Amino acid sequence: MLQTIPINLFRISNPMLGDVVENRRLTAETRGNLNDVRHLVFRYKDNLPYLPGQSIGILPPGLNAKNGKAHQPRLYSIASATGGDHRDHQTVSLCVVRHFWENPATGEKGIPGVASNYLCDLKPGDRVKITGPTGKHFLLPEEFKNKSLVFVATGTGIAPYRGMLRDMFDAGYAGKVWLVFGVQHGDCTLYDDEFENWARRHSNFTYIKAVSREEKNPIPQEVPTRNDRMYVQVRLFERRRQLKELLSEPDSVVYMCGLKGMEAGIFPILDKIGAETGTQGSFVAKLKAEQRLRVEVY
Ligand SMILES: Cc1cc2nc3c(=O)[nH]c(=O)nc-3n(C[C@H](O)[C@H](O)[C@H](O)COP(=O)(O)OP(=O)(O)OC[C@H]3O[C@@H](n4cnc5c(N)ncnc54)[C@H](O)[C@@H]3O)c2cc1C
Repeated sequence: MLQTIPINLFRISNPMLGDVVENRRLTAETRGNLNDVRHLVFRYKDNLPYLPGQSIGILPPGLNAKNGKAHQPRLYSIASATGGDHRDHQTVSLCVVRHFWENPATGEKGIPGVASNYLCDLKPGDRVKITGPTGKHFLLPEEFKNKSLVFVATGTGIAPYRGMLRDMFDAGYAGKVWLVFGVQHGDCTLYDDEFENWARRHSNFTYIKAVSREEKNPIPQEVPTRNDRMYVQVRLFERRRQLKELLSEPDSVVYMCGLKGMEAGIFPILDKIGAETGTQGSFVAKLKAEQRLRVEVY
């Protein structure tokens, strides 16, 4: 593991070049363009040390029609462990969802996002411009080996945990780690086989899924959700007794990554669980003050 945190080694003015070696769809083909998520692997010749939990920037080619200038980089969480998927410190991986948006001014729908569509359409051998790495706050704690960790993800927010878990198991992690993963459809559970495999091999890893469009929320009075859907906060509340035990450990850490707005559903549940640990006032505020709550949403 790296001792120092590498930051901004490559910038817009001197980006690093990466060659696509893999672009693999992670979701069922039958879901079409709206649920198209890709695992992308780039190989590079430069030295790009990074830590899972950091992001890299991708510079899409072409000009921004609004101002005629080059596109700004878009950030993507690194989805590989410290040595990369090929373990040779010469690749970096991403998990990218094809983004479409609606223009409220014109009512036009299904407008393709610039960078995500560029990335999802890349072919092996294509070359991309990369900046970064960036980010210092969403990293594993320095001494993580025996600490209890709770990872909560929605959608592509799973990316950093894939690398973190691999680094943790490689380092002989001996604490307890939970991964609570929210997706819309079961056949869109990103990297499911990898996590299932780790769960079989590591008894200290608990892997919990919340499939919002296919599972009903059985406790809507206690945890209200839109259309009684199964969201990650329902799963957290269902397991509040074990969670209370984990979070009573003073050096345990909660991570949340994914859709902007996921905090609104999860924070009240953490507060409820915290109240049961005897915390006076907001448990979320306490976790934040103790730097035991890390959030990366976009
Ligand atoms: C720290 C961080 C990590 C991230 N990690 C990931 C990740 O792991 N995986 C992932 O898939 N994404 C990730 N993202 C999101 C990613 O950076 C991009 O925002 C996303 O891919 C959309 O970019 P795009 O170029 O495709 O869309 P864009 O073309 O940039 O469009 C994005 C939005 O901008 C607005 N917009 C764009 N053009 C116009 C216009 N002409 N007029 C009005 N509004 C407009 C719309 O609201 C649209 O929804 C991350 C973001 C951050 C900040």
